Amino acid sequence: MSRYSVRLAGETDFPGWRDAARRLALSGIAPHAITWQTDTANDLFAEARPLPEPPMAASLNVPREFIDKAEAVICHSDPARFDLLYRLLVRLRNEPHLLKLASDPDVIRLRDYEKSVRRDIHKMRAFVRFVRVGEGDGEHFVAWFEPDHYIVERNAPFFVRRFAGMRWTILTPHASADWDGESLVIGPGAVKSDAPRDDASDELWRTYFANIFNPARLKVKAMQAEMPKKYWRNLPEASLIPEMIRGADAAARDMLERMPTMPAPHHAKVQERHWSTPEKELPDEAASLVELRRQAEGCRRCPLWRDATQTVFGEGPENARAVFVGEQPGDQEDIAGRPFVGPAGRIFDEVIEQAGIEREKLYVTNAVKHFKFEPRGKRRIHQKPNAGEVSACRWWLDRELQFVKPDLVVAMGATAAQSLLGKAIPITRMRGETVTREDGMTVFITIHPSFILRIREAADAQAERSRFLDDMRKVKTLIS
Ligand code: SF4
Repeated sequence: MSRYSVRLAGETDFPGWRDAARRLALSGIAPHAITWQTDTANDLFAEARPLPEPPMAASLNVPREFIDKAEAVICHSDPARFDLLYRLLVRLRNEPHLLKLASDPDVIRLRDYEKSVRRDIHKMRAFVRFVRVGEGDGEHFVAWFEPDHYIVERNAPFFVRRFAGMRWTILTPHASADWDGESLVIGPGAVKSDAPRDDASDELWRTYFANIFNPARLKVKAMQAEMPKKYWRNLPEASLIPEMIRGADAAARDMLERMPTMPAPHHAKVQERHWSTPEKELPDEAASLVELRRQAEGCRRCPLWRDATQTVFGEGPENARAVFVGEQPGDQEDIAGRPFVGPAGRIFDEVIEQAGIEREKLYVTNAVKHFKFEPRGKRRIHQKPNAGEVSACRWWLDRELQFVKPDLVVAMGATAAQSLLGKAIPITRMRGETVTREDGMTVFITIHPSFILRIREAADAQAERSRFLDDMRKVKTLIS
């Protein structure tokens, strides 16, 4: 008997597979009588005849769990996945509890494939490394990644949410995802040589990796499970791994030996004075914001530069009418070198957009330009900057304000308010109000968006977010 040939629009054409599978299953077509194809290669044994029309009033009910799994499994690279899904669909008509049979070979394969796709998605999120191309308005970030499965389309919305404010392209052998700040386009695959390399970005990743590497906690097997070798070829920091593993014992010993010699906490102030750059060595007055930013890259005014990856200076147009000031860069900002690109930055972006404020027209910066953290295992835990660090870094903030000359400065959180107003401000009592500085500048007080992230109860977090939105609407009125 001749077979049906189903030609899908692409490797991840789930709607196409679902429609064809429904018609075939309702018409009683057996799995072995169907050929599933996604390319132009013809199957000599498949008959290109129209799919059957299912009997009138026939219906096909399958568990939601199957649909969820099928949507993931369709991204698997095994060409036989379409057969597997169809076979399961047909069987589910007579065996409604089939998915609960943990020992069934088809169910085992379905679960394995789903797990493999989800793992690949997770690895892509962890190991995509962007390289910046272009400057200013032409700035764009490009990454090369080699997934095991067809996951680009399924994973792209995650990168849109995470890097909404950047223009970026992710290239893979099967497909590419391009985000221009407004729309996402899934395009054809590419080759590795299409992706740019940037020695400076690579070096930055190596510096970051070397800084967070803790030889005393090294577990080679666990590390290789989390970062399998097949990904190493596209990770700039991977070139450090063999050497680090070889030197881990010695480095851990060295670390232990050095520990007793570290200054006691009460010596911190002495150490701070020792490291601070004397006033006479401060750079000359900068002639432009661009020059100021360059000078800040080498700032040594307080000890925070030593552990952070880089200075995270403000960004935005020099003629912005409003300057938003946060506390300090977080973990993701420290790596990206840009303010407000982490989780708090995403809340900030969403809320100001709801309030009708365009981020591209704002100048966004922090009271403190280096990330202060405490290493805890592999994680870097945010630490609040102290008064000395805020005071030292005010030097940069004052100069940013002098160049931008905004109509309004928005202090987000206690640290920003302290830096801008020179004294502690009760944020919850004064939020939504403005304070005029001695130099005539108007400062609007509100919370830092990270405050919303720290609220555990969803309803409370939502209420706080609404209050933040109210504040941003006031800001919108003030700058309009
Ligand atoms: S935090 Fe500010 S003052 Fe301290 S080193 Fe960094 S840029 Fe300089």
